[in-house]
Amino acid sequence: MFAVTILGNNSAIPTLERHPTAQIVTCNEQLLLIDCGEGTQLQIARYKIKRSRLRYIFISHMHGDHYFGLIGLINTLSLLGQKEPLTVFGPPELETILHLQLECSGTTLQFELIFVPLREENQGVILEDKELRVSFFPVHHRIPCFGFIIEMQKRKRKIIPDQARAYEIPAAYFSHLQEGADYQRKDGLLVKNDWVTLPPPPGKRYVYFADTQYSEDLAVYAQNADLMYHETTYLQQLEERATERFHSTTTQAATLALKANAKRLIIGHFSSKYTELSGFEEECRQVFPNTDLALEGTTYLI
Ligand SMILES: [Zn+2]
Repeated sequence: MFAVTILGNNSAIPTLERHPTAQIVTCNEQLLLIDCGEGTQLQIARYKIKRSRLRYIFISHMHGDHYFGLIGLINTLSLLGQKEPLTVFGPPELETILHLQLECSGTTLQFELIFVPLREENQGVILEDKELRVSFFPVHHRIPCFGFIIEMQKRKRKIIPDQARAYEIPAAYFSHLQEGADYQRKDGLLVKNDWVTLPPPPGKRYVYFADTQYSEDLAVYAQNADLMYHETTYLQQLEERATERFHSTTTQAATLALKANAKRLIIGHFSSKYTELSGFEEECRQVFPNTDLALEGTTYLI
């Protein structure tokens, strides 16, 4: 299972209908949280997300609508007795704020809180395990801001059956070949793994573009992405305002998806002034037909 569940799709101000940015990415048994706007822990409860499985949190930038919910969530996890370590990736200032909040309230967490600072000059892979690879990249916002690429890795190598048979490797050994092992034949020949297998096919990718001005050069990060999230704070009519405020419009987000040759686009971070969202979808689809609104409580398979 590789999917993203939207917990918040509004920009700046929380409203009764829409919440600030937060998304849960499910990679089999692991849960990742991207951004944590105010009220995220209530959204986690509302949509019955298993918060005990949350191990990694990624914060894109220091605008409040992307992290004001973080200390509340961390505090709750501790009160609920979480013991597993929690790793937070974010701008270095976030670490200072979190420590100050914990220190001033005399809070001792029941689990280890690990902080990994994100700095533009270190862009690249920040997390890699057996099934996941996460990297970050800078986008164009008023303050330092980062997008994330989450890739579910396929571990198993692909067997070339004819080759494996030619070397007389028994089928019972195939699972070892898939893991990368060589095969020792009784006649002394060592069959190298890459003689009989191919590298694993590329994993599926989700690319999250945080808050950003439109910029064609960003398309490189989402080349052929299976799913891409891009903000559309404004409808196309307000392009000038979007640029001024380091945000994007519908048409701009859809254009980037097109340039990136992404397979599917979801859009969010809608300005609170819009109560009706159908125009966002319509404008995007004129440029990039496979676009959907990122709706709260909805899970999109990657
Ligand atoms: Zn922002």
